[in-house]
This record gives sequence, structure tokens and C-alpha cells, in this order.
Amino acid sequence: MAMASLFRKCMRLRPFSSPLNKLRGCNVRCLGSLATLSDTHQMLHKTCKDFADNELKPIAGQLDKEHRFPAEQFKKLGELGLLCITIPESEGGTGLDYLAYAIALEEISRGCASTGCIMSVMNSLYLTPIQNNGNEQQYEKYLRPFLHGEKVGCFALSEPGNGSDAGAASTTAKLVGDHWVLNGSKAWITNSYEAEAAVVFATTDKSKYHKGISAFIVPMPTEGLSLGKKEDKLGIKATSTCTLNFDDCHIPKENLLGAPGNGFKIAMQTLDAGRIGIAAQGVGIAQASLECALDYANKREAFGAPIAKTQAIQMKIADMALRIESSRMLMWKAAILKDNGLNFTKEAAMAKLAASEAATFCAHQAIQVLGGMGYVTDMPAERHYRDARITEIYEGTSEIQRLVIAGNIYKEYYG
Ligand SMILES: Cc1cc2nc3c(=O)[nH]c(=O)nc-3n(C[C@H](O)[C@H](O)[C@H](O)COP(=O)(O)OP(=O)(O)OC[C@H]3O[C@@H](n4cnc5c(N)ncnc54)[C@H](O)[C@@H]3O)c2cc1C
Repeated sequence: MAMASLFRKCMRLRPFSSPLNKLRGCNVRCLGSLATLSDTHQMLHKTCKDFADNELKPIAGQLDKEHRFPAEQFKKLGELGLLCITIPESEGGTGLDYLAYAIALEEISRGCASTGCIMSVMNSLYLTPIQNNGNEQQYEKYLRPFLHGEKVGCFALSEPGNGSDAGAASTTAKLVGDHWVLNGSKAWITNSYEAEAAVVFATTDKSKYHKGISAFIVPMPTEGLSLGKKEDKLGIKATSTCTLNFDDCHIPKENLLGAPGNGFKIAMQTLDAGRIGIAAQGVGIAQASLECALDYANKREAFGAPIAKTQAIQMKIADMALRIESSRMLMWKAAILKDNGLNFTKEAAMAKLAASEAATFCAHQAIQVLGGMGYVTDMPAERHYRDARITEIYEGTSEIQRLVIAGNIYKEYYG
């Protein structure tokens, strides 16, 4: 059944029945032939591509200019089942695999990097740790009502004093009677302005360093939690980024997520998988940059011919395409390893590193291909250039990815 009619049929029957639910059980035919995607993945790709071209690309520049959260598009993503792609159908999610997530997120990010970022926070950072570590009561209150675009969630690990060194968390949580009392600050939290709940990491036993960190679900708004100003960012301007300030913030005892002291492990497992999502954002932005450059190079004439005919421009197009294709293959490889229950930490770090560097490279080259038109907001190249930069920073900087890759290689060689 064509994806579009599947979508229409589901929408007619049940407003929140995801058309993507029907796509479970899809496999890539052969690991050695990554280009050969299953029919299911191809249908998903087509749906997301159409959504990106028709509903995101036309408004991405405006959202960026107005620093506006894409509320309407967020709802549509929810209805399509794109905010809970890997959450099992038994919990109300779409129940697809990580390869599907990577394919979908690449396309959405190609259409609008901010929307891709918001989608990635919902899938990877908010819902996944709750799904992996939550109990039935937590699912009922904080997972199911967030699956289909009704509510926004966020993930709060970084602090003003530590980002890469997340084990040094100084936000504290103390059990007082039936409540945990949180004090401290979490910095740079994406989606926080719109969020109705946050997964928050805080130290319950400082003497144990990272083994004393626990994870909590904090409803928002809640007394004792205030938001700092919205950060004025270089790119992904349609996303909100704020500091969360906890000042004797009481949350119910049952909002502890997973076992006490397991928070650091939960955070690292979340980020491991989340890096596949940042890779998808990077590949999407890189692809958008290439498409913008190709289109312009075919139309723009200099010295009596389209600039696409010059070898200098062709070299740039080839270099861009090469980096996009190779980082996409790394991303798919990491996703397939994860889908098969194999270790994927090194590959996810490689995919994130390669894709984020491809994004900044391609956006840089796109501006060059467009010349003066690359430098102004009439064309999307300058937005891609600004949006690309964050992919080298969040969910582990490029330096941290290199440390993860090298650490894993040493382990492979020397045990
Ligand atoms: C727009 C935006 C959105 C974000 N969203 C979220 C979110 O939703 N939730 C969340 O928890 N966080 C979020 N973050 C925070 C982000 O994950 C951190 O900024 C990132 O992990 C880097 O941490 P830092 O800024 O503290 O830099 P630092 O850790 O201070 O690093 C500064 C520099 O030192 C380098 N460095 C640090 N340690 C080492 C080392 N051991 N070896 C080599 N180099 C090193 C880094 O690579 C970097 O170049 C967001 C950040 C931004 C800007």
C-alpha cells in the first residue's frame, strides 16, 4: 500500500493511529549492500521527503527569522508517528527500527534543521530513556501523552560548569520524606521553553562521583523550577534553548527514573543512540546544502555558460557528494548494528563526527558556489551554514567523539 494512502486511511480511522505502525519488521536486505533498502524503508523515506519538501522547506527560513517553534509542524510529525519512531507499538509508539529513525530524521533535517533537532530530542533524548528505564506509572504519565505531538519533552544533562565532563554534575537531589528536592542549574536545554516534562540528571551521592548521579522525571512547570532567558543562538533558531534553575524544587519520590545511582549510565546509553540522530541531522543539512549548490550552479551563468560547467564547481560538488554518501553509510551502519543488538558505540561516534563535519564542509562550499547570494538570507545557504555548526557541539563535541573512537580502537586491539 502506498505510504500516502496508508496515511490517509489511518488518519480517517484514528487521529493518532500512526501510519508508520504498519511498517514494523522491516529489514535491510543485506549489510554488504547498504544502498539496497527494504520497501518499507523506501516508503518511509518517500513520506518524509514529501513532508520535508512540501511542509518544511517553504517555511524553514521564516521560522529561523522569527525564532519560532514549529508548533503546527510538530503536531503533524506527531500524527505521522515521527516523534516516537522506535518506541514499541505496545506502548503506543511507531515500533520501527533505528535505521528507520535515521532515514526519517535525515529527511526532516534536510527540510528544516530546527525541526530535525526538536524531533531528535523527542525520539532520542526524552522518550527513549523513559521507555528503557521507566515503570508503568511513568509510562502512563510521561511517555504515552508525549508520543503524538500533544506535549513536548526535554533532556537536561549539561550544566553551566560542565558539559563534556557530565560526570561532574553539581545539581543535587536529596530525598526528604516523600519528595526529592532538587537544587542547581542545567544549561543549554533544547525544547525547555515548550516542554511539559524533563528528564533531569542530579547527584544523589557526591562521594561516588558519576556513580552517584541519578535520573529523574520533572513535570514542567513545577514550583521551584524556573527557566533562564532563551539563548540567542547562531543557528537552529526555531528551537528554544534555556537554563533550568532548580531552587528547592520538590518532585514526588516516584519520579526517580531507574535505580538510584544509575543516572550516568542512563545518560551515556541515551547519548550513544542519540548520536545516530545527530548524524542524521548532519547528513540532512549537508544534503540540503548540496541541493542548494547544485540548483544555483545550473542556473547561474558566468563567462557565457552555467557555472556548473566549470571544473572548479564540479570539484566542489564531487567533494560534497563524497562526504555525504560516506557519512550516510556510517550512520546506516551504526543504526543497523544497534538494530541487531551489536555494539555500536564506536560506529555511532564515527557517524556523528563524519556527518557533522560533512555538514559544516558542505554548507561552507554551498556558500562559495553561490558567491554573494550565499551570504544573504534570500537563499538558504547561509542558514545551512549556521545550522550545521551545532552538530559538531551537542551530544558530545567532535573532540569527545574522537576520544570515544580512539578508546574503542585501543580496546579492540589491546583488550
Ligand atoms: C544549542 C545547544 C543545544 C543544546 N541542547 C542540550 C540539551 O538539550 N540537553 C543537554 O543536556 N545539553 C545540551 N547542550 C549542551 C551540549 O551538549 C554541550 O554544550 C556540549 O556537550 C559541550 O559542553 P560544553 O559546552 O560545556 O563545552 P566544554 O565541555 O567546556 O568543552 C569546551 C571545549 O573543550 C573541549 N574538551 C573538553 N574536554 C575535552 C577533552 N577531555 N579532550 C579534548 N577536548 C576537550 C571540547 O571539545 C570543546 O571544544 C546544548 C548545547 C547547545 C549549544
